[in-house]
Amino acid sequence: IGHVRYSTTGESKAENLQPLFANLSLGGFACAHNGNLTNTDSLKKELVSKGAIFQTTSDTELILQLVARSRQKKLINKLIDALNKIKGAYSLVILTNKKLIGVKDPLGIRPLVLGSLNGSYVLASETCALDIIGAKFIRDIENGEIISIEQNHIQSFKPFKKYNERPCIFERIYFASPDSIINGKTVYTYRKKLGEQLAIENKIDADVIVPIPDSGVSAAIGFSQKSKIPFELGIIRSHYVGRTFIEPTQNIRQLGVKLKHSVNRSCIKNKKVILIDDSIVRGTTASKIVNMVYEAGAKEVHLGITCPPIKFPDFYGIDTPKHKELMASNYNLDEMTKIVGAKSLFFLSLKGTYVAMGYKNRDNENPQFSDHCFTGDYPINVEEIQNSKNELFD
Ligand code: AMP
Repeated sequence: IGHVRYSTTGESKAENLQPLFANLSLGGFACAHNGNLTNTDSLKKELVSKGAIFQTTSDTELILQLVARSRQKKLINKLIDALNKIKGAYSLVILTNKKLIGVKDPLGIRPLVLGSLNGSYVLASETCALDIIGAKFIRDIENGEIISIEQNHIQSFKPFKKYNERPCIFERIYFASPDSIINGKTVYTYRKKLGEQLAIENKIDADVIVPIPDSGVSAAIGFSQKSKIPFELGIIRSHYVGRTFIEPTQNIRQLGVKLKHSVNRSCIKNKKVILIDDSIVRGTTASKIVNMVYEAGAKEVHLGITCPPIKFPDFYGIDTPKHKELMASNYNLDEMTKIVGAKSLFFLSLKGTYVAMGYKNRDNENPQFSDHCFTGDYPINVEEIQNSKNELFD
């Protein structure tokens, strides 16, 4: 098992690398965790007061500590004990000497899928990982489900109270790989629909649609097809620069964005350009790119974003920053337009986002997704993590 988790809790230190491993009374126990726990501080304080010694600053270590302390006899019951104490978003893969275990939290915030390869079972966050190794997709792990695999025999446990599923909508907007399949459709299809919907909501006179690569590409194709304005690769992304967003400091982020994108002048000079990106978080990418496109001789630069303004921080594993760093949390549309330097800036409506996902609208009684970044409707209480000073971590 493995996981490329960047530090959404705790620091980017070697000891926080996943999977975390411990030798427990029943043998080796390794755990990789996609998501973020929300009651880490109080649980950690409690365990430390009882003598627990933490080796890392990762929230995931709590799971190991709690499993280790459970008085249950069987591993699966120890795990259920631990899961009953943690709160937050978690999709887990766990490996013991005998078992491969998959867990999805009761609201199903982060994804986890089951596949098969040569008569064995495989677990992964997304179906694209199954495709790479030639495995066949079987099904999603359900919210609140624990899957235990031993000698190719599979058992499913559902120990939690049943809740309506609230998958994080940002997986479809940004996170997931375009070729992954969610609910029977590729993520690419959802993103194209987001772009189409944005074009339906905003009729702007322009010569070219240019995606901010790579994440804006699928949506820009949708926008171009719907608006009938030609699609051009007016910005080229260097594949030797990684994800700039997750760099630890703003200076490195800004430098990274600069090194990452360059302008393809032939598509832009003297043109009215509509740039498409999936989201604005701090505004680092948008400001740089609008400026670059004007410098390359564009007549007008408009910027379309295929989700609503991100006004609320995430605490479930996306690593969006606190309120004070979120552009849309601090400025209104006019101010944001000026800051990014575009002639116009437009976001997809919340309703449009749901329409692109195949719904008529957001069901306010029973929301289909966790869309807390846009609405502030946090399906899992975030008060503790919001007020966390990380005293015990840093
Ligand atoms: P920013 O530059 O801070 O406004 O962030 C927005 C850009 O980063 C967009 O181009 C997104 O595609 C990308 N992005 C948005 N959310 C995330 C995330 N959680 N991790 C990495 N990249 C992201």
